[in-house]
Amino acid sequence: MKKKIKVWRCPNCMKKSIIIQINNATLAAKISCGSCDLYVEMKAKKIYDPIDVYGDFIDEYYENPLKHSMKKNNLSDSKSIIVHITTQSIIKSLLLNWKNLTEIKEDLNIESDLDFRYLKLKLKELERKFKLEVKRIGTEKYWRTVKKK
Ligand SMILES: [Zn+2]
Repeated sequence: MKKKIKVWRCPNCMKKSIIIQINNATLAAKISCGSCDLYVEMKAKKIYDPIDVYGDFIDEYYENPLKHSMKKNNLSDSKSIIVHITTQSIIKSLLLNWKNLTEIKEDLNIESDLDFRYLKLKLKELERKFKLEVKRIGTEKYWRTVKKK
């Protein structure tokens, strides 16, 4: 049996030219559009489930304007933020120590401005949800995970 490659509608250019590839071992999903250069990586929740990935991707696309501004023609600048910068990876980085932005950036291997902006948003969000505590030394801000009492 031959498997047909399914093509999905792109929310960016509205053409039916999105292809979703899922690595069944790592569950890493690549969503790329053949017409407009849109390219996003995300994590699939289940093995080979492009419909769910597509749904998640569409949600992401409309929720977070930062993410879908990634283009594959500057790939060096766009190694997926979705995969590296997660609540978990940030919390892991801040588990025991106070760290400033530069240190967190290094921990998470963040290189692009886009990712850096996303990290800052994410920190704000975690602050707001009281998952992180903040202190200031001079003008520098430091974060640490909130200890459970
Ligand atoms: Zn497109």
